[in-house]
Amino acid sequence: MLTKLAVSTHEEVYRVADAETGLRGFIALHSTRLGPAAGGLRMRAYDSEDAALADVLNLSRGMSYKNAAAGLPLGGGKAVILGDPERDKSPALLRAMGRAVARLEGRYWTAEDMGMTPADMAEIARETAHVAGLETGAHASGDPSPVTAQGVFNAMRLGLQHRTGSADLAGCRVAVQGLGHVGWHLCRLLHAAGADLVVADMNAGRAARAAGAFDAAQAEPEEVHAVAADVFAPCAIGGILNATTVPQIRAGLVAGAANNQLAAPERETAQALHARGILYLPDYVANGGGIINAAAEILAIADRQPWVAEKLAALESTMARILDRAAAEGLSPAEVADRTVEEMMLKAAG
Ligand code: NAD
Repeated sequence: MLTKLAVSTHEEVYRVADAETGLRGFIALHSTRLGPAAGGLRMRAYDSEDAALADVLNLSRGMSYKNAAAGLPLGGGKAVILGDPERDKSPALLRAMGRAVARLEGRYWTAEDMGMTPADMAEIARETAHVAGLETGAHASGDPSPVTAQGVFNAMRLGLQHRTGSADLAGCRVAVQGLGHVGWHLCRLLHAAGADLVVADMNAGRAARAAGAFDAAQAEPEEVHAVAADVFAPCAIGGILNATTVPQIRAGLVAGAANNQLAAPERETAQALHARGILYLPDYVANGGGIINAAAEILAIADRQPWVAEKLAALESTMARILDRAAAEGLSPAEVADRTVEEMMLKAAG
């Protein structure tokens, strides 16, 4: 059921298959140099096995960077299941995936990602102890979104300081795309800080509720990146910064929670933002709060709140270092982030 594949860029990669439940997927451990590989499980109707494999390889590498940027003693890993989460998911299929994770004996820790729910994680936890983001249990960390939102908020203040000389959000106009788990909490923090909000979501009811709760204006989901604002906060989908949207952005700062905000080729997209004088905060640093929250569970931290607060503060210092360095070298923070985090990895690995 677990077949090891030879992939030179990763420590361990497995194809997972279970005929009885129809499970098809992959688990990739990019690196365990800093600790067990940690990263979520995603279920998606991929076009092909090749597409799923490419995704898991890319995502697990990204997790090595995200975990290192957050100063965690964790490596990078990820798992994917091929299938439509609405149609193809079953408790038996999830438990088969749980057994595959168990076979790795703690070298990989899984958690919730796209297409997964806390209930699904609980099902997986019936087969393996190496699951984080649970809602019950000794070190359960639950929904990471409030911590993710806090990290984005902290990063946004830093970005503003760099951009305008003041970190004060009062009176700042912030356009938030996506009002789900993270976007909603972020709006709450921004509203409390006196920001003037413009909100958008594909779900019109959610957008209307946010407009009411946060005294916000509403924009169309496909236009929110282009509204006149000081900050654009992508908190929905990846690839939102692309050849079409970048020339339309009017905000001077982009700071949000969405993963993989830069459309490929990422370097060129980051460069295009930089050339327009738009400060882009690298997503995997800005949104590292969620993995910090989950890490407290993986590492069985007894007194989680001060530990999480300390790690969030360190994440903010890392972002500050990246922004200072980018400004000094006249480069895009996205470019400097990778280099800074690679240095952190080397130092942490001793
Ligand atoms: P979510 O599914 O709870 O919310 C996403 C929201 O975006 C939904 O309300 C959805 O209707 C809306 N949406 C989808 N496409 C849209 C579009 N084109 N325009 C406007 N709105 C759109 O997800 P979440 O947990 O809030 O995560 C948001 C983003 O942050 C994702 O990219 C996720 O990968 C990333 N992220 C989340 C966490 C976390 O702690 N939840 C941590 C790190 C990164």
